[in-house]
Amino acid sequence: MKSDVTYDLLIIGGGISACVFASKYLKNNITKKVGLIEIGRGLGGRSSTRISKKYEGWKLNHGSPNFNISNSKNNHLLQRYIDELLENKYIKIDDSEIFFLNEDFNLETKKKSELSSGVNYLSLDSMSELSKKIIESNNLKDEIDFFFETLIVDMKFNDKRWLLTSKNGDKFKSKFVICSTNLLLHKRSLKILNVNQIPLRKAIPINSDKKIDLLLNLLEEQTFIPRLTFLIYTNKNYSYKDNYSKKQRYFYLNNNLEKKYRFERIIFQLQDNKLGIVVHSKNAELINSYISAKDEEVFKQKIIKNFNKLFEENSLVNKLTFDEKISIMKWRASQPSGLAVPLSLQFSRKSKIGFCGDWFEGNGFGRIEGSILSALILEKKIRNLIK
Ligand SMILES: Cc1cc2nc3c(=O)[nH]c(=O)nc-3n(C[C@H](O)[C@H](O)[C@H](O)COP(=O)(O)OP(=O)(O)OC[C@H]3O[C@@H](n4cnc5c(N)ncnc54)[C@H](O)[C@@H]3O)c2cc1C
Repeated sequence: MKSDVTYDLLIIGGGISACVFASKYLKNNITKKVGLIEIGRGLGGRSSTRISKKYEGWKLNHGSPNFNISNSKNNHLLQRYIDELLENKYIKIDDSEIFFLNEDFNLETKKKSELSSGVNYLSLDSMSELSKKIIESNNLKDEIDFFFETLIVDMKFNDKRWLLTSKNGDKFKSKFVICSTNLLLHKRSLKILNVNQIPLRKAIPINSDKKIDLLLNLLEEQTFIPRLTFLIYTNKNYSYKDNYSKKQRYFYLNNNLEKKYRFERIIFQLQDNKLGIVVHSKNAELINSYISAKDEEVFKQKIIKNFNKLFEENSLVNKLTFDEKISIMKWRASQPSGLAVPLSLQFSRKSKIGFCGDWFEGNGFGRIEGSILSALILEKKIRNLIK
């Protein structure tokens, strides 16, 4: 047993939805015993920042680089929370330049993508820091016990109590559980966690909780978009061709260019006096060629060649020199796709479990907008229930 404590609430996952949920929950329940379990080394999940150990001084947002709120007009809960983040100076309106590249290599600025429609916001620090600040704002007396580098692989629900077990055999007891990830509910867990039954299904057998049955059935229809991100640590004197000095600058490729170059979006990220570049790709051929690449260095050289070709005629971006260092991050499930789960299935009173994250229905499905909103709605639903 990790400790003899029985938590009032255990949160699985430390992404932005878990942090928003925990922060709001703590504000209203200061006497509760809360634990948060995360497999990563820190907070942020898919909206986190890679602090390179190998290449000193680099902090690149390698998942979501910023976030957009596509529609908050009719959603006061979301708008109030965004205003709170703005007032606390955790975020600011992202007025960075966004370009949409087309086959003629024109730099269009007016178009919008699913990831940039509405109002765009930027963390004043890194994306990982945003999650950290959100949780710290209401964790003033260190009420939360954090368990990092801890992967939950097994769940049990007996006598109205939860027992979670990690890969290392640590056990955690709780009266209530919040899952901010759907890994433990989805068939991909079988391979990733090396288990022979979906953990939540094992904990709540079929026909014992209709809501959970429905949730697990619907999740069978949810798929996930894999992605690669290339983190390019440029050389000391690498810069733009112009004098642009804002923190980030985005280049989106239109569909035809994306097919040709296999890149989806390129984000320049200004560091202390260096310019980092993060390239995103969801191209299946590129992902497969990375998986089967015999020589990673050769693969990286091809990425630079592609980058240089794309920006050959560009008036803002300089070419790379082929001696840059590159790290590659492979996201098995960067965003959910297909079926979104109805918010009515967010919580089971019977099984004392709640769920939040970007996998729920709404305008923000698959994005930070959805993660934040689902966490706010869940907290409101269960605020007074966890006794
Ligand atoms: C490359 C990339 C680009 C993106 N671009 C954008 C964008 O431009 N705009 C936008 O809005 N969104 C974007 N997204 C999506 C956005 O990052 C997510 O919607 C959001 O971060 C999800 O937050 P979350 O808290 O719901 O889930 P997560 O961040 O996935 O949090 C869940 C956490 O649970 C942990 N976890 C999972 N299983 C276990 C377990 N068994 N035990 C312990 N811990 C566990 C995970 O490590 C993770 O930290 C992007 C994502 C990626 C990967």
